[in-house]
Amino acid sequence: MTKKTTTPIPCSQHDHKKCKKNALQRARQVCQKNKVRLTPIREKVLELIWQSHKPLGAYDILGMLSTEGQTAAPPTVYRALDFLLAQGLVHRIASQNAFIGCSLSSHPHVSQFLLCRDCGVAIEIEAPAITDAIAENAHQYGFSIDQNTIEISGLCQCCQQ
Ligand SMILES: [Zn+2]
Ligand SMILES: [Zn+2]
Ligand SMILES: [Zn+2]
Repeated sequence: MTKKTTTPIPCSQHDHKKCKKNALQRARQVCQKNKVRLTPIREKVLELIWQSHKPLGAYDILGMLSTEGQTAAPPTVYRALDFLLAQGLVHRIASQNAFIGCSLSSHPHVSQFLLCRDCGVAIEIEAPAITDAIAENAHQYGFSIDQNTIEISGLCQCCQQ
């Protein structure tokens, strides 16, 4: 699958219900393909992460679960997050210690994130030229990369108006 899904600009008015529905549908397909189980708690955590295009911390997720009357212990939520990360359904935003739903197709990818410092929206982009340049430079130093997600801060289109 190399076809990219067209992502609406997350800060603009768009049919977010559709974003969420597509994401959950894709998650089911990915889990089926990988022969892993999207348990109710895993699905619920993914759904909460997809409630917006803003990264969500584990404690935000725990708080939301408890306001919905569901009690989940922190380790349960952490395990669900680990699972979603491993399946490539969410990404970790290191600078915020938070999670965002993957908005690119399910092919393996290294992405970059544009993070709005005003509204908090995160836009996932995929620029292989950046990833290749980093790999090349790291190679010159014999450096082995663990994690190469780049996070770029700035103002989104909506917050510039
Ligand atoms: Zn959306
Ligand atoms: Zn992604
Ligand atoms: Zn913004």
